[in-house]
Amino acid sequence: MTFPTYRWGWAPEGLATRRQLALRGLTPGRQPIAAEIVWRYRRRDGVTRPTRLAYLYRTDLAVPKRPATPAQLAALARAMRVRRTCPTCRRDIGYCLPHHWTACLDCQDTADQRHDTEHDDPQTCAAATAA
Ligand SMILES: [Zn+2]
Repeated sequence: MTFPTYRWGWAPEGLATRRQLALRGLTPGRQPIAAEIVWRYRRRDGVTRPTRLAYLYRTDLAVPKRPATPAQLAALARAMRVRRTCPTCRRDIGYCLPHHWTACLDCQDTADQRHDTEHDDPQTCAAATAA
């Protein structure tokens, strides 16, 4: 299957990238790729990046994005609740915990205070942390 290649800014009206469609609440649907656009861009330091490429779809064949089903929304809500739950205090902390955090800010504060009072000697402290 072949389709025309345009340079950035030279594509005819009525074509859009997947991202441009998404901004209008549309997806390409089952239509084939209508064209591709290629572009190069020069970074501020003068290095020319490799050619970039994006596929274009016909906007008149694009279909509205299907709204999420109740089951999908429920699954998403469950996933978000898990991410908002502190593994240490088991509370819903109201914000998503970054993946590498093992405790919410409250728990970290408490741990830091305990840390300060229990280990004045940095050597003991390091050993305790490593253990
Ligand atoms: Zn916590």
